[in-house]
Amino acid sequence: MNPFLRLCSIGLLAALLMMARLSSSPAVRGYELRARTFDLVITNARVVDGGGNPWFRADVGIKDGRIARVGRLNPADGDKTIDAKGQILAPGFIDVHTHVESIYNQPAAESFIRMGVTSLVTGNCGTSTTEVAEFLARSKQQPLSVNLATLIAHGSVRRKVMGLVDRAPTPEEMKRMEALVEQGMKDGAVGLSTGLIYVPGTYAKTEEIVDLARIVARYGGIYSTHMRNEGEKVVDAIRESIQIGETAGLPVEISHFKIASRKLWGQSPVTIGLVREARARGLMVTVDQYAYTASSTSLDSRLPAWLRAGGLDEGKKRLTDKATRDRVVSEMKEALKRSGFKDYSYAMVANYEPDKSFNGKSIAEITQQVRGKKDIKSQIEQIIAMYEAGGAGMVYHGMSEDDVQRIMREPFTMIASDSGVRQIDESVPHPRGYGNNVRVLGRYVRELQLLSLEDAIRKMTSLPAQTFGFRDRGMVREGFAADLVIFDEKTIADRATFDKPHQYPVGMSYVMVNGEVVFANEQMTSARPGMVLRGPAYQVTVASN
Ligand SMILES: [Zn+2]
Repeated sequence: MNPFLRLCSIGLLAALLMMARLSSSPAVRGYELRARTFDLVITNARVVDGGGNPWFRADVGIKDGRIARVGRLNPADGDKTIDAKGQILAPGFIDVHTHVESIYNQPAAESFIRMGVTSLVTGNCGTSTTEVAEFLARSKQQPLSVNLATLIAHGSVRRKVMGLVDRAPTPEEMKRMEALVEQGMKDGAVGLSTGLIYVPGTYAKTEEIVDLARIVARYGGIYSTHMRNEGEKVVDAIRESIQIGETAGLPVEISHFKIASRKLWGQSPVTIGLVREARARGLMVTVDQYAYTASSTSLDSRLPAWLRAGGLDEGKKRLTDKATRDRVVSEMKEALKRSGFKDYSYAMVANYEPDKSFNGKSIAEITQQVRGKKDIKSQIEQIIAMYEAGGAGMVYHGMSEDDVQRIMREPFTMIASDSGVRQIDESVPHPRGYGNNVRVLGRYVRELQLLSLEDAIRKMTSLPAQTFGFRDRGMVREGFAADLVIFDEKTIADRATFDKPHQYPVGMSYVMVNGEVVFANEQMTSARPGMVLRGPAYQVTVASN
């Protein structure tokens, strides 16, 4: 070999050796050992991806809170591994209809996590914070286990501007309401909610809602409504909801879709038909539902709206007048008759502060106990007395199973609880706050085979994500947030009943939020990885700053 070339090749060899030594120096090697490809690898799962597709077997690799890989993975590539053999891996459930304004008092949100819910939309039924920016930002100081989004609520906005009065807003008041809704959207609300049976939402005419919905439309939000009526006038109420969406130009979500009048049981094909027709015309209408034949709301909602104007003190003042009281009794008698219920035995007390022994009993039972008789007039008198004493939280057994099932089967129906965070042994609340999603998986999928597992999961994941604009959630897909649940489809079941609601479900193995395990081995972990999910206007605002 030419000596010059030889010199060169020695130099090359030396350079190569040096590079090799560098890359195998202890520090570098140690780094490589620690820097595995994934933070967590879940192996052997049956993946139900959230889009309604049949399950497939895959491993899922999670890195930095995201789903980094779905496919065949080496468990050794994960810092941690979970063997999900024989179990279902699905996206964490998104509950678009909750009432968790006080979630910072219960940041673990255990009752939601334990049924697989990893994201909540609050501010429903016309009641929300009016300080959206502040409400969402609090999660920085007080981290949550779940992801949180909020609507801006018409009722709360109206109350702030006008109080609880029963009249139309002046043009000036309307402007202030518009400004509050606009600010809420800019601060990250995902849409507008109404509660048109509640005070003060019930005093708003359609035009008032349309006016505010137009602003929400401009910012890409949704209109989510607890309609004016879910009983005898449910058809009119659906028409109004659709009209608001079509006039203002935004998608409509009808909350807790149901038929709550006994006389109209079996009429769900008609109400579903209205939604289908609107969709056929091109309006995005979707609905949500909880998997029970009972609803839950205040006792006040049984009393005439005119009586409740101005709030409880005003209502009590009016009731001191004998003629007014008689009018209330006769209107309530009429309403009961029209609804088709024979008396108020369908109305159970969930929480009555002045006398907790009422909790779990029906109005008929309580009336018998208190008044020694339970004719309709006595039951109404009892309701009025309880209203005067501050009101009560109620559970109303007012729906038919056939309607519940027919609504559940519709492709545009999502599963949502309508619940707050439950506290063990506090009152006798509706069991939906402990069991809703899991009840769908246990009862309606496994036992009754009303839905396929894949379709039920879709209604809890990708459908709510699509509807409320959570673009990187609700699917097991690379790049998506790692909100995940692992459960046993053969055993998953709700345990909470109307008599004994404070029972967690069984069959849930793991719940992960943004890649962190928040529930495992039948216990909550201390992780609080929840994020705030802000609406589309927030991003626009930030981008333009
Ligand atoms: Zn509601």
